[in-house]
Amino acid sequence: MTANLLDYDLEGLAAFCERLGHKRFRAVQLFRWIHQKGVARFEDMTDLARDLRERLPTVARIQGLPVLAEQASADGTIKWLFDVGDGNAVEAVYIPEDDRGTLCVSSQAGCAIGCRFCSTGHQGFSRNLTTGEIVAQLWYAEHELRRRRGTGERVISNVVMMGMGEPLQNYHALVPALRVMLDDHGYGLSRRRVTVSTSGVVPMMERLAQDCPVALAVSLHAPSDALRDELVPLNRKYPLRELLDACLAYLPAAPRDFITFEYCMLDGINDTPQHAQELIALLRGHAGRGVPCKLNLIPFNPFPASGLKRSPRAAVKAFADQLNAAGIVTTIRKTRGDDIDAACGQLAGDVLDRTRAAERLARRRERLAVVRVHRAERTVEGQA
Ligand code: SAH
Ligand code: SF4
Repeated sequence: MTANLLDYDLEGLAAFCERLGHKRFRAVQLFRWIHQKGVARFEDMTDLARDLRERLPTVARIQGLPVLAEQASADGTIKWLFDVGDGNAVEAVYIPEDDRGTLCVSSQAGCAIGCRFCSTGHQGFSRNLTTGEIVAQLWYAEHELRRRRGTGERVISNVVMMGMGEPLQNYHALVPALRVMLDDHGYGLSRRRVTVSTSGVVPMMERLAQDCPVALAVSLHAPSDALRDELVPLNRKYPLRELLDACLAYLPAAPRDFITFEYCMLDGINDTPQHAQELIALLRGHAGRGVPCKLNLIPFNPFPASGLKRSPRAAVKAFADQLNAAGIVTTIRKTRGDDIDAACGQLAGDVLDRTRAAERLARRRERLAVVRVHRAERTVEGQA
C-alpha cells in the first residue's frame, strides 16, 4: 500500500521525502502543490524534480474521499457527505458569511460520548478518522469551491471541528491535521480561526495547549454536575470543576483570551432563569476569579430519537439577556442550512442514521456497478 500524502503535516512529508533521498524543500514544493493548488496528480507538479516526480507514483498517492451526496441550502450553505468505507459516512458543511467562509469538519465516524441531544451521539461510535480523512474534507471543499468560482482565491477562512465526533478523542490524527490547516505552505489559517470544539476531554485539553494551541470551544450545556452528567455523560469522568480548571489552564497558550462555551438550549431542561442564575454563579465564581469566556447559545436541532424539544425563542432571548446583564457576553447562534439538516449537531440528520446510510451506500454502489457494467459492455461492443 502506498502512503497517502494527505496523512502528513509538513514535518511528516519532509521525513517522507528524506527517506526517498530528497531534501526538505522538495517536501515544501510538494505540500504546496497538494494543499495550495489542490493538485492530485504527480505528473502535474511541473516544478518538482523529475526523478522525484517519477518515483512518487510508485510509493505515494493523494487520496481524497469519495463524495456520496451534496446538498445546497437556499442560504448558500453546502453539505457534503463523504464515504469513509464499510457503510460509514461523515459530513462537512460550508457556511458562507459576509466576512468569512467557515468549514465545519468531522473528526470521527460516529461518537463514543453519547450526548443525549446529539444525533451523532445516538448512532454510537464506528471509528476514528485518519489525518488524511480529516484533511481531505478541507482539501476537497476548498478546491472544489475555488473551481466553481473560477477565481483561484481562497474561499475557506475558518475551520471549526464541530462536525461528527469528539476531536480530542482522536488526538493523534487531529494534531497533524490542524498543523496542515495552520501551515503557511498549507492552508495558512490563523490559529484564531481554527476552533476545536470539545465535550471536555480534560487531559487532552492540556496536551492541545502544548502541541497546537488553537481556539477552543467547550460544550457546556449545563450549570451543574447533576444535569451535565445526564446530558454529556463524559461529565461523570471529568466534572465541571476539573473542566473549568482545564479551561483556565488553556488560556495562557490560547490565541484568544477567552474560552467559548457552547450551550444547547433544551426546552424545560436547561433553559430556565434558575439555570441562567446557576450558570452565572458558576462562570463568574469558579476558582474565586471566574473564567474569561463568551457564551454561545445554540437552539437545539430536534431529531425524533432524542425526545427533546428546542427552547422557544423567547426563552433563549431571556436566557441571553440574563447572562449579558451579568457581564457574560452571550450570543445566540444563527441557524444555517435548516432546509438541508446542515446545522451543527445534525450533521448526521437522517442521512447518517447508520442503517439508512448503509442502505444508501449499498444502493449507490449497486448503481455504480451497473454503470461500470454498461461501460464495460460498451467497451466490449466497441472493440468487437
Ligand atoms: N464533539 C464535539 C464537537 C462536535 S459537536 C463537542 O461536543 O463539542 C459540535 C456542537 O454541536 C457541540 O457544541 C454540540 O453540543 C452541538 N450539538 C450537538 N447536537 C446538537 C443538536 N441536536 N442541536 C444543537 N446543537 C447540537
Ligand atoms: Fe459526541 Fe459532541 Fe455529539 Fe456529544 S455533542 S455525542 S461529544 S459529537
